[in-house]
Amino acid sequence: SGKPLDAAVRDDFPFYSTGAPGAALAYLDNAATTQKPAAVLNALIDYYTNANSNVGRGYYQLAMTSTERHDAARETVRQAIGAGADDDIIFTGGTTHGVNLLAATIGRRVVGKGDRVVVTGMEHNSNLLPWRRLCEESASELTVVPVGADGAVDTADFAAALGPDVPLVAIIHVSNVLGTVNPVKEMVAAAHRSGAYAVVDGAQAVAHGHTDIRDIDPDFYCFSAHKMYGPMGTGVLYARHGLLTDLQPYQVGGGTVKGVSACEPVRYVGGPARWEAGTPDVAGAVGLAAACDYLESLGWDAVRAHDETLVRAASDMLADIPGARIIGAPAAGPSGLVSFVMDGIHPYDVGGHLDKHAIAVRCGVHCASTFLDDLGLLGTVRLSFGVYNTIEDLARVHDALRTVRPGYWTSEQPTTRFL
Ligand code: PMP
Repeated sequence: SGKPLDAAVRDDFPFYSTGAPGAALAYLDNAATTQKPAAVLNALIDYYTNANSNVGRGYYQLAMTSTERHDAARETVRQAIGAGADDDIIFTGGTTHGVNLLAATIGRRVVGKGDRVVVTGMEHNSNLLPWRRLCEESASELTVVPVGADGAVDTADFAAALGPDVPLVAIIHVSNVLGTVNPVKEMVAAAHRSGAYAVVDGAQAVAHGHTDIRDIDPDFYCFSAHKMYGPMGTGVLYARHGLLTDLQPYQVGGGTVKGVSACEPVRYVGGPARWEAGTPDVAGAVGLAAACDYLESLGWDAVRAHDETLVRAASDMLADIPGARIIGAPAAGPSGLVSFVMDGIHPYDVGGHLDKHAIAVRCGVHCASTFLDDLGLLGTVRLSFGVYNTIEDLARVHDALRTVRPGYWTSEQPTTRFL
């Protein structure tokens, strides 16, 4: 580990093999989802070939093997983020599922009438709408800490928003819109000093730097496997030891109870099983563990250096395109993401033009329309990098952007925007 990443990383990804989409495509939409290395794909196939049976239920050898693999995946993830032995690593369907679970459980428990929940102005809908709904349901209020013109939240503004009426804050670690890296450690500490629980949305952080949960010290941290080279529809909710213990489960069903009888109150199990009703996505968990191992094998220093190289190269490349303007300060942290607009050209015309040149980017409001409103933008064009992207990918973007012209969206639908 620690070696710089080079184009050979592509050999790890069947997506880049001859005839597969990556062979022709400059795939630069990694903040939406990453491609999967063979190590992850093979882990899924191996699980379903050699260990498939339900977990935590069967009293036979294969069921125990399956359960062991699930437990081992949990342990790998725990170690990957440096969580304590007693902390809960709950497998979820992703970041969205994790935040909804929290809003419906700890949220309902601690947020009451007249209270406030604090979020930043750069939240993804998945870490905004569950809290908005909780506030509506509990007659509490959502306080949104504004984002400055530089695309960052002022920590003094954040601290000022806290108070005795704020039992919980929910903050994004790395912005999926601008790549801003929030000082979450400092923000979590401020929340704790003021007596609030801190929920962190780590969806965009986990693939770009080593997540050291003990250092950040949040109460809850959510992320998705698919943004860190693992499978879709699987994710993790980290919960500090003991915080979820006596809450009513989010969903109830198989695997969550000690015993059910017709007239006794239902007794739920403790630990992660309390939060994983029904048959879990065991292969997804196994695939995520393989993704953690894969990233570890590349080395976090190398991943960070690679991101920095590409962010710098993208900034230089865009400086050479007349009318291109970067939004925010992407070089300021490990995010592997650059967002920009083109003067007088709708982001969808830019995206459509790049698509014609076999370049895949995201354009629009990135599931964060309130943030784009505050920035006064219709949308942005987002280049987001993975470990397999190269300077050549950016050279292709450079060439294509030199010929971009206003098109359908600019002339016919100049104010339309998409999610
Ligand atoms: N938060 C952020 C910051 C994200 O970028 C995303 C994915 N775009 C999510 C939450 C939601 O993740 P998922 O769709 O995997 O639940």
